[in-house]
Amino acid sequence: MAFELPALGYSYDALEPHFDARTMEIHHTKHHAAYTTNLNNAIANTPLEGQGIKEILKNLDMNNNPVRNNGGGYYNHNMFWQILHPENKGRLSGPLLQAIEDAYGSKETFMEKFAAAAMTRFGSGWAWLCVHPGGKVEICSSANQDNPIMPGIGCGGTPILGLDVWEHAYYLHYQNRRADYVAAFWNVLNWNVVEDNYNKAK
Ligand code: MN
Repeated sequence: MAFELPALGYSYDALEPHFDARTMEIHHTKHHAAYTTNLNNAIANTPLEGQGIKEILKNLDMNNNPVRNNGGGYYNHNMFWQILHPENKGRLSGPLLQAIEDAYGSKETFMEKFAAAAMTRFGSGWAWLCVHPGGKVEICSSANQDNPIMPGIGCGGTPILGLDVWEHAYYLHYQNRRADYVAAFWNVLNWNVVEDNYNKAK
């Protein structure tokens, strides 16, 4: 069974004015679609065919660049679409809020540190909030389409929140203003899904 491009669950213009419709459409139908197709091509007729994406990434040969780049791109964007919502659903609460306060003191400090991770990732990559076994959370970032599920990448936890900081994610609307894009992200984040990710992964 080949990997399939997932539906967004909302329209391309649903995240306006924070994430513009044209960027969302290109990001989904061109970038994510290409990662999906190229991943399927890269694993066809290899032992990886038929494995789940997390299994593939966890056991990845980091010298296998086609699977590293496209498998990462496939997984990372799946998560990204899921944690976005036009109504900025939910609010940080419960065990995840506690874990964030334990690690960073407050939600506000966490947001500052996460934004700093997104801003200091030079070139293309992702900023992550990850959870370690036992529930401790940690911010990290990674280059290109790498993610902390892959061997030796980032803080090595399970990602529960990821922000795409490739220019393709924001350039049409924000040009070089990555900071404005990162600030806008909080307005379209679905905390309910992030909390759900935390509860499943901790
Ligand atoms: Mn992207």
